[in-house]
Amino acid sequence: MSSVSIAFLGATETVTGSRFLISSPKSKVLIDCGMFQGAKSDREKNWLPFPVDPTTIDAVVLSHAHLDHCGYLPVLSRDGFAGKIFTTKFTRELSAVILHDSARLQTEDAKYALEKHFSKHNPPKALYGTPDVEKTLKQFQVTDFHTRTKITDDVFVTFYPSGHILGSAFVLLEVADRKFLFTSDLGRNNHPLLSNPDLPPASGVDVVVTESTYGNRVHETAPKVFADELTAAFKRGGHVLIPAFAVDRTEVILMALRELIDTKQIPNVPIYVDSPMALTALNFYRTGIKENAPEIRNGVSEKWKSADPFDPGNLFQMQTTEESKSLNDLSGSSIIISASGMGTGGRVVHHLEHMLPDAKNTVILVGFQAAGTRGRSLEEGQSKIKMHGNWIPVNAHISKVESFSVHADSDELIDWLGKTSAPDVCFVVHGEPDGQKALRDRLVNQLQWNAVIPKTDQVFSIN
Ligand SMILES: [Zn+2]
Repeated sequence: MSSVSIAFLGATETVTGSRFLISSPKSKVLIDCGMFQGAKSDREKNWLPFPVDPTTIDAVVLSHAHLDHCGYLPVLSRDGFAGKIFTTKFTRELSAVILHDSARLQTEDAKYALEKHFSKHNPPKALYGTPDVEKTLKQFQVTDFHTRTKITDDVFVTFYPSGHILGSAFVLLEVADRKFLFTSDLGRNNHPLLSNPDLPPASGVDVVVTESTYGNRVHETAPKVFADELTAAFKRGGHVLIPAFAVDRTEVILMALRELIDTKQIPNVPIYVDSPMALTALNFYRTGIKENAPEIRNGVSEKWKSADPFDPGNLFQMQTTEESKSLNDLSGSSIIISASGMGTGGRVVHHLEHMLPDAKNTVILVGFQAAGTRGRSLEEGQSKIKMHGNWIPVNAHISKVESFSVHADSDELIDWLGKTSAPDVCFVVHGEPDGQKALRDRLVNQLQWNAVIPKTDQVFSIN
């Protein structure tokens, strides 16, 4: 019998900081290496020493390019991790964009904190910089979907399309004689560009590690809500701001707007994408569609062979800071899509500051808003929000459209997980406590699974 263990180094009782360490008799493999985001108490965890000496880790498996899954890799490499980071082609491409942006933001924040004297570090320092990102990117090793790949002496990995973002995968890890299934972030069956998540193996999995972001919720299905919200916003006469994750959500929103404009459900107003990172990501989606990549939905490449799926004819791509600032002086109705999706940083913060005080404007939240973020404060109806040291009154209309989520909801998770036979144990991670508990209860009651919510740094041996 082998001695294999799993340690939960993040994404416990939170949706960020995904890091799971598998130890076998011959190797140590880390599944994802994400940054903690959201509440200050979570963000501070990024500054703690990594709980395992990075020089002892043999390989990393990266499920997708979101920062809460890849954002800590530059620290791991800088602090001595010298192995390979196995991932898919577009996860490598998008991780490069996201990690470079992260390094830039952190360096800028550190400089700003130094000028304003409000850093806790003296002098303020960035968690990592561009050289660290460049070092970690050299360790990336691209692996095809559906290809069983040996990554250490006794560990094999296979990536399967998970329908969450371009390049995203759920992961089957064979460790000695044990099989682990990591859902990572599981997508849904209605993505306009990405194919549905593959089905899990029908049997033979010993351990499942599942996300539970929406473990206690079921998404609304009516796309009409979006059209209604936009129509009401244009009647108020102001502008519409949609904070959106730069990678994937921007693409999905643009596709939805195009559909509404093409079918004349909303007027043909100008659409501004104001996030350099989102614009770079858009280009990778265009490439994926052109190449008919394995994770692209059937028929999408054929349909958009000679047209840009993201531009209904009035798309403006704002690259420079000057272009971004010019959006403060728009006349008539318009839609601005800007990152970050939870209002924690990026150009959207300036747009929120500018637009929230005016009751004519509308902010539409289209993604999960983690605890402690400005997006969550808006979602909860707070009347003022702190930005750049000032309290900004929230007079704009705030609405929420959940149907754009690229995470499976509670019903979809149960349905998908139920397609594999009961494992010895299922660990429920990547959720806030209510979501984790609700999903655990459904796994126990509906599927009769042995389901456990791990605590931070808890280690389980798998025998
Ligand atoms: Zn994700």
